[in-house]
Amino acid sequence: MPWVPQFSQDKIMKYDYHIHTEDSYDSRIKAEELIRKAIELKYDEIAITEHLDLLAQELSVFGLPSLKKYQARIAALQRQYPQIKILTGIEIGDYHQVREFAQNLVAELDFELILGSVHFLSDQTNIALPLPQPLSNKQVEDYYRLNLALVSTCDIDVLAHLGVYKRHYPDIPDEREVYPLIREIFGVMIERGIALEINLSALRNGYPSYLPEDHIIQLYQQQGGSLFSLGSDAHYLDHFDVFRDRVPQSYLNGRIPQRYRLTTKS
Ligand SMILES: [Zn+2]
Ligand SMILES: [Zn+2]
Repeated sequence: MPWVPQFSQDKIMKYDYHIHTEDSYDSRIKAEELIRKAIELKYDEIAITEHLDLLAQELSVFGLPSLKKYQARIAALQRQYPQIKILTGIEIGDYHQVREFAQNLVAELDFELILGSVHFLSDQTNIALPLPQPLSNKQVEDYYRLNLALVSTCDIDVLAHLGVYKRHYPDIPDEREVYPLIREIFGVMIERGIALEINLSALRNGYPSYLPEDHIIQLYQQQGGSLFSLGSDAHYLDHFDVFRDRVPQSYLNGRIPQRYRLTTKS
């Protein structure tokens, strides 16, 4: 039986669609503890989105996670806790660089939510980690070009943490120079039905905003974008359910990512 959402159309769903647990090498969250906490806090849905990082330098350190085992683990928890909907998702890092490999891996597994994200610049800088100094203009442009390649060539439901390199910056930089590129990204996303994630991780690091910031989200809305996803990107249980109140309700108006809507239809 396909899942049919139990909430009414006009109720704003309480959800978090970007969380890492046992099968992410950098997470300390036990999925069962997370699920209990989510139930206690009256969440309607959560998506567990483990890392799938397939670049050679990542595979050699972290290896290939067993996706089947991961799915079975979450399926068992879903049976144990039917009072909450748990989506089994995946965050594919730098998908555009490992497209065929990743596509083949996820093809038969039918994940309920696929996040795409850029973690590495062309010069190999890992922008998910704290940076010794802000990126140069050239690196910022490269970052958005990689995001454009990602949304144009990969089948994803959600573009995760756009602007992640700013996560450890003290202030919001002026980036009007890359607005044309960002508009191009949003144009492709709107056309392909890819949701824009509002990612809360920067707030935990002292950055003054979630990512992307309101002025970037406005570019998306000006072009007609209205499909949002919300993600804590939690790696510790304490990261879950914080800073949600900073996000305007207008971004969380009940629209949810594409694949999920498609798989729940029939
Ligand atoms: Zn990420
Ligand atoms: Zn993540």
